[in-house]
Amino acid sequence: MDTKSFIQKRFSEFYREKASDIEAPRLIEQREFGFLLFKGNVMVRHKSFGTVEALRSFVKQIVPAHAYYSTAYYEAPEEKMENKGWLGADLYFDIDADHIPTECGKIHDRWKCKTCGFTGKGVTPETCPMCGGKTFENKTWPCEVCLESAKSEMVKLVDILVEEFGFSPDEVEVSFSGHRGYHVHVENEVVKELDSVARKEIVDYITGVGLEAALHGVGTRSHVTSSGSSGRGFDNIGWRGRISRGAYKVLSAATEEDLKNLGLKEKAVEKILSNKELILKTWERSGPWQPIGGLSKDALQAIINRAVQNESAKIDTVVTTDIHRLIRLPNSLHGKTGWLKVVFPTSEIERFDPLKNAVAFKKGEAKVYVDEAPRFRLGEELFGPFKHEKVELPMAAAVFLLCKGAAELVE
Ligand SMILES: [Zn+2]
Ligand SMILES: [Zn+2]
Repeated sequence: MDTKSFIQKRFSEFYREKASDIEAPRLIEQREFGFLLFKGNVMVRHKSFGTVEALRSFVKQIVPAHAYYSTAYYEAPEEKMENKGWLGADLYFDIDADHIPTECGKIHDRWKCKTCGFTGKGVTPETCPMCGGKTFENKTWPCEVCLESAKSEMVKLVDILVEEFGFSPDEVEVSFSGHRGYHVHVENEVVKELDSVARKEIVDYITGVGLEAALHGVGTRSHVTSSGSSGRGFDNIGWRGRISRGAYKVLSAATEEDLKNLGLKEKAVEKILSNKELILKTWERSGPWQPIGGLSKDALQAIINRAVQNESAKIDTVVTTDIHRLIRLPNSLHGKTGWLKVVFPTSEIERFDPLKNAVAFKKGEAKVYVDEAPRFRLGEELFGPFKHEKVELPMAAAVFLLCKGAAELVE
C-alpha cells in the first residue's frame, strides 16, 4: 500500500467512528462546504447540506484530506460564486506560526522560490529577494515553541476583542487549527454584514497599522491639556493604555543588547541604562509620554514602536478581510498532520495542549522510514529526532510524519 492510501485508510476508519463528533455550524443550510480530496488533490466546492446528518455521512463517504465550510451565509450556497446571494459572514481570525518569526523557525522552516529556485530559512517572504517571485514551496514544522507563540498571539487577540471591541466572551470561540496555529471566531449580528473594507479597519486596529505614537501625545504635552486626562494611562482602554503598559514592559526588561537592537546608539543605550530606575519611576506616575532625563525623543519613539509591535496581535490579515473564506470544519482531520481541529472555551486557553488534545489516532502502530524529523512530542511521549531510519511508531506519530511528508510507509 502506498503512503497516501494508508493515510486515507486511517482517515476513513476515523470518520466511520467519529464523524458523529462533527457539529453543524450555525445556520448550516446557508453555508457553503468544500472538501479537498486525497485523490488528485481535487477541491470539491459549492456543496450545501440541510442537516448535520447529511454532512456527516458525506464526510464518511468521501473521506477528505481537508474539510471546510464558509464563514459566509448565502441564499443559495450551492450556486456559483456570483449567484450565491451573500447574506453576511462571521468575523474570523487566523493566527499561524507561518506569520510569526521565531528563533526555532529559522531551523525547522524552509522555503524555495518556485520561479528561480532561491531558498531560505524561517518565515516565507512575500516576494522572493532574488527574482521578486510570489509563489513558494515550503516545509514547515508544527513545533511546540511555535505553537506556544501562536497561542500567546491568540491571547492578545481575544483580549482586544473582549476588552476593546466589547464582544462577550461567549461570542468569541477559539480553536486549534490542527497544524500550526489557532483560530478565533466571532458570531454576532453586528459584525455579520460588515464588508471587506470595514473588516480591514478591524485588522488595522488589531495589528496596530498606521498607529502614530505622536497622536497619542508621545513627545508632547498636548494630550494632557487637550484630552483633559493626564496620568500614566496604564488603565486606559485601547491603544493608549496598551502603549503605556507595553513601553513599561519593554524598558523594564531591556538589556544593553535589546536597546541596541532597537537601533539606539551606544551613548543613548548607556544613558538609558544608567537612568532606567528613574525613568520607570517617572512612567509609573505619568506614563511614557515625554522624554525625560537620559531618554531622547528618538529613543522614546523606538521603545514605543517596539511596544506597539509586541502588543499587537499577529493575525493573517487576508483571512479576516475575505468575506467568502472557507474555514476548517471543527472535529475534522487536518491532512498535513492527522490532528484534529479542536474548538475549546476561552477559559481553557491556558490549559489547552494541542499536542495532546488534538491527537486523533490512539490505536495501533505502523512502521515508517523517516527521511528527517526533529524531536517532537505527542501526548506525554517524545519521539526522534530521526534521520534516514526505519522505526515502528504509535499510530498518531506515524500518521503525523506521513502526513507531513517526513516519512514513508514501510510495507
Ligand atoms: Zn525567486
Ligand atoms: Zn518552532
